[in-house]
Amino acid sequence: MKIKSITSHILRVPLGDKTFYSSQAAFPERNSYLVRVETDSGLVGWGEGGQYGPPEPVAACIDAVLGPRLLNRDPTEPVRIWEELYAFSRDFGQKGTYVESISALDIALWDIAGQAAGLPIWKMLGGRFRDRITAYATGCYYPEDFTNLPAVLNALEREAASYVNSGFGLLKIKIGLLPLRDDCERLRVIRNTVGSDIGLLVDANHGYNAAAAVRMGRMMEPFDIRFFEEPVPPEDREGYRKVRAENPIPVAGGECEFTRYGFRDLIAGGCVDVVQPDLAVCGGFTAFAHVLTLANAYGIATVPHVWGSGIAVAAALHAVATIPPFPHTAHPTPLLNQPVIEFDRKHNPLRDDLLEEPFLLEGGCLAVPERPGLGIAVRDNVFAKYSS
Ligand code: CA
Repeated sequence: MKIKSITSHILRVPLGDKTFYSSQAAFPERNSYLVRVETDSGLVGWGEGGQYGPPEPVAACIDAVLGPRLLNRDPTEPVRIWEELYAFSRDFGQKGTYVESISALDIALWDIAGQAAGLPIWKMLGGRFRDRITAYATGCYYPEDFTNLPAVLNALEREAASYVNSGFGLLKIKIGLLPLRDDCERLRVIRNTVGSDIGLLVDANHGYNAAAAVRMGRMMEPFDIRFFEEPVPPEDREGYRKVRAENPIPVAGGECEFTRYGFRDLIAGGCVDVVQPDLAVCGGFTAFAHVLTLANAYGIATVPHVWGSGIAVAAALHAVATIPPFPHTAHPTPLLNQPVIEFDRKHNPLRDDLLEEPFLLEGGCLAVPERPGLGIAVRDNVFAKYSS
């Protein structure tokens, strides 16, 4: 079997009045870069590359540079191809667009390899520890008028209650945009709304320096926060170490990190308690497996980041299914010793409309796909609707 064609798709959905804000950015649209790899035997694999930035650079990298190198290659050797593509681009692409492009291709090749073998990717990777994965709701961002605190708090109450009512036992809240005291007030309102049994996580999108993050971590202690995501900028390893040492909440990070080399520095550097590789960013399934092994050897929990289309969600489900308990226990608790799956709840038709069978929450969990490869079918009419 040989790779016959590699096709880039850029999908884009303007959000209009549904625009939302993190501590660092406005989100006036959702977009995804998807790649379709077709073989001479008729098998088709899908991948996704990049999550945060514009999709055009990934498309250019695959169309002009990496894609042509794979034509007529055997798609059922994704690990070998990963090493070759990374070795080719090492001198100019150790992080960013090149690795995001390798991620998209790697996911698509694992999809094809699984279909060729008749096995789901989790089985290709050696087997799964679970067939349902506890999901956490990612939401509670900031509205456009984020300085109107009473209105912000009212809307947060409603939003947090809606997640709990739909079955989530874990919620992730954005912080880092408002003064520390006001963001604590947001957390106080959410904690009062959801009660003490719901797990809360916070994500600052690196909106603090280390001193402010330590102070915020101490101020958040009464709200029983399970982890403190991206407290400081991803390059600030020393800041991560300081926050981890001096604040009472476990520190999470890694969504903007790339390959085993970047994660080696984050993990061996003592920066995080929870490492968050994103399959569409870190280097696909191949790099995820490296990160998982590194983290496991250092006693660090792996909880992948996922924020993309239905393809990214599918890839993350296969990956999370393969994560061993950290460590084994008779009474596993999600996040403490079992991995969980991030389930973004902000408006995104590319997540909800792309697949013939979208992923749905059942009892606070998502089911791991059972069919060969990624185990998904992509709806063709979505491309006409959202292509740009
Ligand atoms: Ca994040």
